[in-house]
Amino acid sequence: MDQGHGLLANKDPFIFIFSMKRVIVIGGGFAGSYVARELENKFNVTLIDSKDYFEFTPGILRTIVEPEHIKKIQILHTHYLKKAKVIVGCVKKITSNDVTLEDNKKIHFDYLVICSGSSYNVPFKEKDIIKVTRAEHLRDRYNDLCKAKEILIIGGGLVGVELAAEICTHYNDKKITIIHSKEKLIERNHEKAIKYAERFLKKKGVKIIYGERAIQKKKNFFLTDKGNKLKSDMIFLCTGITPNYDFMESNFSLSLNEKNQIIVNEHLQLIGENNIFVAGDITDRLEEKTAQNAERQAKIVVKNIIALENKNNLVSYHSKKTPIVISLGKYNGILDLGKFVLMGFIPALLKSFIEIKEMRKLKQS
Ligand SMILES: Cc1cc2nc3c(=O)[nH]c(=O)nc-3n(C[C@H](O)[C@H](O)[C@H](O)COP(=O)(O)OP(=O)(O)OC[C@H]3O[C@@H](n4cnc5c(N)ncnc54)[C@H](O)[C@@H]3O)c2cc1C
Repeated sequence: MDQGHGLLANKDPFIFIFSMKRVIVIGGGFAGSYVARELENKFNVTLIDSKDYFEFTPGILRTIVEPEHIKKIQILHTHYLKKAKVIVGCVKKITSNDVTLEDNKKIHFDYLVICSGSSYNVPFKEKDIIKVTRAEHLRDRYNDLCKAKEILIIGGGLVGVELAAEICTHYNDKKITIIHSKEKLIERNHEKAIKYAERFLKKKGVKIIYGERAIQKKKNFFLTDKGNKLKSDMIFLCTGITPNYDFMESNFSLSLNEKNQIIVNEHLQLIGENNIFVAGDITDRLEEKTAQNAERQAKIVVKNIIALENKNNLVSYHSKKTPIVISLGKYNGILDLGKFVLMGFIPALLKSFIEIKEMRKLKQS
């Protein structure tokens, strides 16, 4: 078993005391990369991620119409992490003091931070259905998209709406249909935001079918639960996220809720485990699963690990409604602040600005 490196050469007494301790972070998304960055100078940190780069997920959908955009939203973990060790691999099991990788290598930890995030649902197995989580996957389909005449988007949540907007603002010769099981698009948002998104898409010729589900694929059409046939050359599945929880099943299955999210206490600790913290989409916190909330949770985890080392009181995490920026193509968007909604060019600009700022922060670190 890999036991870590022991003391690191550092004269700062604060750093000296902590550097003996090994922190393992599972997942290098918004939460995990933040934790690894913040703790790498204080602890012996290892980031384990199934991919070797951080990806700014909110920018992924643009890559379907502008494949070169991918360069702007990905950065190798080894670029922004200066001291932390990076292992590219998948964790398959955890106990109270070690993690096991797919190749059965065990790594001991003093603290574990679980930031394994979520993936997109794929209820249909066909190869021509696009998973809208992986930029690489989307980019590979760019040529198919150029050729496709009829496009079906299953799901009218934030991702489905943003994707439809990217496509309809980029091409004016595609027939786009969104099928949505609810009665409103982006239904958890402010009414003004909902109406604006609907108006925007309809004006661009996007057909929206409400209250209906695509249930079965047959050759080049989909059957809906109301018996309609929807023809399409390309299908995008935007039906929501599923937590990445598999490694919990052998020893911590009781720590999962009915949605397979990890149950945490107010300090974001795994219940009953003082030294295991959880942050990001994978937690059971009742709030919108966003990059912003993943980072807010990661900040609490960092504070609490340091507090444990200093024998201080732990801080609590409080869910709150945070602003949401929805892009409608490059030049239009919605900023939903809960009570106040701003629509038009400024939210689109804001979304691009956040992406540039976040990626620059990592590139210059
Ligand atoms: C298309 C799309 C658009 C979005 N747009 C926005 C937006 O505009 N604004 C916003 O705030 N949020 C947006 N989100 C949501 C946002 O991306 C997530 O909330 C955020 O990525 C969650 O961060 P995370 O760190 O919890 O997990 P993730 O970003 O999901 O990262 C988890 C990481 O863990 C890795 N992993 C998983 N299991 C294992 C394992 N067993 N071993 C090792 N590694 C593992 C994964 O490969 C991944 O790298 C969007 C999401 C999608 C899919």
